[in-house]
Amino acid sequence: MFAYLAFFTAIVLAVIAAFQILLLDKVYRATVIRQSKAAAETISAIDYNSEDFRSKVYDTASKYGICVTVYKVGGSTGTPIVTAHTQSFCLIHSAALGDTFLSGIYANAKIEDVYTETLEQKNSSSAGSLIAAKVTSDGNYDILTVVNSDIKPVDATVATLRWQLLYLSAILLVVSAVMAFFISKKIAVPVSKMNEEAKKLAGGNYDVDFEGGAFRETVELGNTLNYAAGELSKLDTMQKELIANISHDLRTPLTMISGYSEVMRDIPGEMTAENMQIIIDETKRLSSLVNDMLDLSRLTGGKRELKKTLFSLTEAVRQTVERYSRLTVAEGYSIEFAPDREVYVEADEILILQVIYNLVSNAVNYTSEDKKVYITQTLTEGICRISVSDTGDGIPEEKLPLIWDRYYRTGDYHKRAVTGTGLGLSIVKNALLLHGASFGVSSSLGEGSTFWFELKAQSPKN
Ligand code: ADP
Repeated sequence: MFAYLAFFTAIVLAVIAAFQILLLDKVYRATVIRQSKAAAETISAIDYNSEDFRSKVYDTASKYGICVTVYKVGGSTGTPIVTAHTQSFCLIHSAALGDTFLSGIYANAKIEDVYTETLEQKNSSSAGSLIAAKVTSDGNYDILTVVNSDIKPVDATVATLRWQLLYLSAILLVVSAVMAFFISKKIAVPVSKMNEEAKKLAGGNYDVDFEGGAFRETVELGNTLNYAAGELSKLDTMQKELIANISHDLRTPLTMISGYSEVMRDIPGEMTAENMQIIIDETKRLSSLVNDMLDLSRLTGGKRELKKTLFSLTEAVRQTVERYSRLTVAEGYSIEFAPDREVYVEADEILILQVIYNLVSNAVNYTSEDKKVYITQTLTEGICRISVSDTGDGIPEEKLPLIWDRYYRTGDYHKRAVTGTGLGLSIVKNALLLHGASFGVSSSLGEGSTFWFELKAQSPKN
């Protein structure tokens, strides 16, 4: 941080040095030329016959800090008509230059523009002299205005600037160091703290807090990392719960199977069809559980491709209701489904059957003491909606978005002895997403829930 700031400061100082020290002389000389030209223009514009000509020339000379002589040129001689000697340097007023110099200037000076010439001359108080000349004509005579400005040496100024620059460098260096310290405190410190926390997180410790410091970007990074840590910890808990659930779910039927088999082996009279049925049922539960897990891993792993066929969705629901007939007869459950027509869809029949089965199975599991489940089929603008409602406790609103997650269970115990794995709705979600189908849930606490999905209706092939 300090290195960057120091580098930046060095560049700024170098630019300042280039402009102030190296270009100072050029800029200064250009200014002198501009000023002298302006003075020559102003003076040559004054009418030399006017009464206040002399005072005006003096005023202009002292305003610009220059020396002036205005000549009236007739034939080969020039007679000074006014001489304004406002400064001590006045080179044009020293006799040393002589007439040749003057006739040289006169030869070069033009009417349209101001002629300038620099006379280099080095001494302690001057770096040279600038001559600016302009000719005007009144018809009879040429009037030659000669302006002389002193070019002051910039060495002293450059030396001063150099010292200034030295002090400036020192001050800026200190400022850079202080700024680097504060910026690093605000950025680098939070980042390295976050790094420490991230290492903890990588080691499996979810009790971490990513503090972003004072900058928006680091604060956002901190928030994102906190969110990621939260999600990881949730996933971890869910996976642990899943293992507990699965082991529990596997153990119950296994205990039943081994228990009944032993009884049937040891007690001859127990070799009954009912006992065999229990073993068969439990075996089915086991295989459906294993199938659920495999299905979900295929669906979410992108390995399951849709095998779309045209089939009756109404019939698919009917079949599912049928599978529950034993339950409805034996345990008093009522699953109501009264479709007013047959609706056909083009979809993966196995997956859609599974979706319906999982929704009905949940409705049966979570419905209230009245043991009622309602299934409706509606057709609007070519879209068929299947809704499965129960009369159970409902799902709290804040948990609604979570129930579709893998392994997620609200923690409520199931009404029936059948235990879930928390995979059912995740399979529903992934199967419907694969179809690009809409689906959702509405639920009100104490009154029950309605799960629905929609598929495009197709006309049946004859
Ligand atoms: P599970 O095997 O636990 O039923 P699901 O993925 O099918 O797993 O459902 C996830 C969670 O959503 C369930 O544990 C339950 O809390 C809630 N849930 C699902 N369907 C219903 C329903 N019809 N009524 C109330 N809660 C439901």
